[in-house]
Amino acid sequence: MAPKNPSSAQQKESAHQLEIDRLFMERLIRFTAKSLETATPVPFGALIVHSETGSILMRGRNAVGSESDPSAHAELRTVRKATKKLKSINLSGYTMYSTCEPCPMCMANALWAGIDRVVYGATIADANRHCRQIRISAKEVVRRSDMTCSVKGAFLRARCYALFTHPNMLKAFATWSSRSTSSSANKTRRTRKRSSRNS
Ligand SMILES: [Zn+2]
Repeated sequence: MAPKNPSSAQQKESAHQLEIDRLFMERLIRFTAKSLETATPVPFGALIVHSETGSILMRGRNAVGSESDPSAHAELRTVRKATKKLKSINLSGYTMYSTCEPCPMCMANALWAGIDRVVYGATIADANRHCRQIRISAKEVVRRSDMTCSVKGAFLRARCYALFTHPNMLKAFATWSSRSTSSSANKTRRTRKRSSRNS
């Protein structure tokens, strides 16, 4: 029997992983999109899946507004619920999918939980067009830590970013207090101030 070509085997494995990642991310996008028809729409969703078996452990959406909790980001909430469910702080062997690149808080929390892999959709820069962000990439957080985690993104970026630009989401962003301090909003505010002074 001819020895297997490692590069083609590797390619086959990554094609398989790509398909798995696509399926889970699409599932997460559908789950997150459900919020867009509610009174509290959010574009941020997270899903934690066992990397080997593909069994879903937990999913969640951002609930900062509804829970009056600045730390209730989708990824952090989902990790919190997952570790409670397992009664363990160790999520090694799990992959976390997120519709948006985890912020430094969420990426740090994923590292503390020992998550092996993070796959994200939209980037921090994409989200920053609509709301405040801390502009440190997820990969940078990993790089500066003592832990390891494979970070893949931006994956299905356009599909994930569409959550941010849904008409109901755009309306909601306008009411988010955080929006007023984003750089683009600052410009708008300055323009508005100027125009109000001028008027
Ligand atoms: Zn976060």
